[in-house]
Amino acid sequence: MSKGDIQRLVQPQLKDLRPYEPHLYDNVIHLEANENPYPFPQEVMEKIFREMAQLGFNRYPDPALKDLREAIGQYAGVSKEQVLAGNGSDELIQGLLLTFAGPKAKVIIPSPTFSMYKIWATVVGASPVEVPLKADYNLDLPVLLKELEDPAATVVFLCSPNNPTGNLIPLEEVEEICQRSQGIVVLDEAYYEFARESGISILDKYPNLVILRTFSKAYALAGLRVGYILASEAIIKELFKVKLPFNLNSFSQVAARQVMENQPVFEAQIEEILANRDELWMELQTIENIKVFPSSANYFLIQVPEAPRVHKELIEEGILVRYLGGGPGLENCLRITVGTKEENSFLIEKLKAICNSLVVKR
Ligand SMILES: *Cc1c(COP(=O)(O)O)cnc(C)c1O
Repeated sequence: MSKGDIQRLVQPQLKDLRPYEPHLYDNVIHLEANENPYPFPQEVMEKIFREMAQLGFNRYPDPALKDLREAIGQYAGVSKEQVLAGNGSDELIQGLLLTFAGPKAKVIIPSPTFSMYKIWATVVGASPVEVPLKADYNLDLPVLLKELEDPAATVVFLCSPNNPTGNLIPLEEVEEICQRSQGIVVLDEAYYEFARESGISILDKYPNLVILRTFSKAYALAGLRVGYILASEAIIKELFKVKLPFNLNSFSQVAARQVMENQPVFEAQIEEILANRDELWMELQTIENIKVFPSSANYFLIQVPEAPRVHKELIEEGILVRYLGGGPGLENCLRITVGTKEENSFLIEKLKAICNSLVVKR
């Protein structure tokens, strides 16, 4: 069989997709992935390893994710039947789309936003419909509601705070969308612990509402891949049909449960990141020719005169931030994760120098 034959066999919707690209930079300060910059707390680490030493690796993990779902349920104030955990929230986005969107479905995506929604909508064969955000990055509610009138619109993704723009969607708008949508409303709260605003209070009111969260950001567990869903029991039951039986390995189940049981340790880190965020916000304002957008999360969107060049020059100085590709609404934009105090000061120093030189040369 020839290479051309392989191409012929590949599903047509995959033709133009590109695989996720890993960053290839060592020895840089990582301010590109919105991770928690602090080391994982030693005391919690030790508890996890002690428990794992008892449990061993020879048995399959619990497919029902019982203990973890119970711990998350307690944390979020819902029953464990309203919780599902996955291999990162990425896996849950895939699961939601496999369950609720097929080749005839439209997946509504206010954009710019997190790229996985569109990618997975495409992979499952649905039609992603991007609805541009307004210039201030708020939802264009009339246009969005119009799109949601279509019965084919079976899933809409709302990201709050939105990645990469940092702004929250007011809860009244989420409610209106839940009321008017004929499909599932996914509210991605990956940055909930930084924003401290949630749709959880209206979860029981709207059977089509799904809240999506992750342990990868505030809870410092990006490497272990754990995300979770809060939704009605009916939705969770359906999601279990497409879930791989052993989607979450034993180690990750134990680690995430220990994180839930050791809240205060992480709360202290989150407080520190929030203080660093406020300080970084003030510092960024002092740099000429940078526009900074306010953020309820642990990152800032900034607009600079020549984003690709600033991105490259920051790498040369040992700092990696995210260049967002310059697409609609993100022209010359970079996303910068809030780091430790030291990382942020270093960033400000370098960014100042780079931006000043850009302005002089123009
Ligand atoms: C980082 C991020 C996720 C992915 O989280 P994982 O649990 O690591 O897969 C989901 N949604 C948004 C908006 C994110 O920024």
